[in-house]
Amino acid sequence: MISTPALVAPSAGAAFEARTVEHRDLRDDDVLIDIAFAGICHSDIHQVREEWGSAIFPMVPGHEIAGVVSAVGDGVTRYQVGDRVGVGCMVDSCGECEHCKDGEEQFCAKGAVMTYNGTGYDGEPTKGGYAQQVVVSERFAVGIPDGIELDVAAPLLCAGITVWSPLKRWGAGPGKKVAVIGLGGLGHMAVKLAAAMGAEVSVLSRTDAKKGDGEALGATHYFATGDDGVLKGLKGTFDIIINTVSADLPMQTYIGLLRPLGVIANVGLPTGNYDFAPGAVVGGSRVVAGSNIGGIPATAEMLAFCAEHGIGATVETISADEVDAAYDRVVAGDVRYRFVIDTATINA
Ligand code: NAP
Ligand code: ZN
Repeated sequence: MISTPALVAPSAGAAFEARTVEHRDLRDDDVLIDIAFAGICHSDIHQVREEWGSAIFPMVPGHEIAGVVSAVGDGVTRYQVGDRVGVGCMVDSCGECEHCKDGEEQFCAKGAVMTYNGTGYDGEPTKGGYAQQVVVSERFAVGIPDGIELDVAAPLLCAGITVWSPLKRWGAGPGKKVAVIGLGGLGHMAVKLAAAMGAEVSVLSRTDAKKGDGEALGATHYFATGDDGVLKGLKGTFDIIINTVSADLPMQTYIGLLRPLGVIANVGLPTGNYDFAPGAVVGGSRVVAGSNIGGIPATAEMLAFCAEHGIGATVETISADEVDAAYDRVVAGDVRYRFVIDTATINA
């Protein structure tokens, strides 16, 4: 077994503890990654606090992993010791179903194995990136291009790919008006990517506290949705809305901001339901869509795009003992714009 220091959530909502955890010895197709940085995704918080239903404890969260390959299994062909790689939300899939063959492993018919709070096909619980090392199949490690530093690369592995997928699918680009609801981890990446794709980007944030940041990230317009009359004034405006909000939202109002044939792609995963009348989508033939992370080929494509356009996440680097406080700040909307853990600070 391979032992590594990690941050462990012992039970739902409990404070993190630094402990040593074990990973399997390398299989033929495995790589061992020395993790440099792990991003804090709001999904980590939903799962550590058991907001999505029963979770597996003790839990080592983290699915925004960036590091360097430090050992390879006998059959590994894609990577060598010293390569810079990332790992996102998945660490295994069947590899044989139509979705895996299409490079959409997140839709695997057998069920993709999640990086943490999941169970591997070997029956063992998976452990994520709040640790100094992780073992994964080379099929689920993605090369990080030169020119993207590891700290700003880590959040691309979940936040980046999650907003890249719907922006690509729904045709963000020149001539398209894209709105991003919620300027947090996913939201700030959506602004950066949509602007680099050539779209006209608007931020829809609750207050004007992040106005300067929104514009600096690449938005042309910024709207504080809590201000009187703002949403009313935006009726029928956008071709594409990316909803990244982690809490319940008046969906019907936001659908009304779409132009005819427009789409609102929901990536946020609050615990409540969205509520809207059939007429809200029938009038204007509008689309309410969802989007689930993205496959490994798309992740590599997104990373290449980021390298070409000089894009990384905007991060605040924290040490292991600051993670509990960082969770509270994320929930309060007080993150600018992704926390990344310097995993060297985990003392187990
Ligand atoms: P985050 O950094 O906390 O950002 C969410 C943003 O939503 C906040 O910054 C805030 O923006 C806004 N917000 C928060 N509470 C709100 C409220 N009560 N009303 C209105 N707006 C509110 O979270 P994240 O890491 O970007 O993740 C966002 C959501 O996406 C989470 O639910 C997460 O689980 C989910 N997610 C989904 C996928 C997928 O594959 N679909 C992948 C990753 C994450 P403002 O302060 O600007 O208003
Ligand atoms: Zn995530």
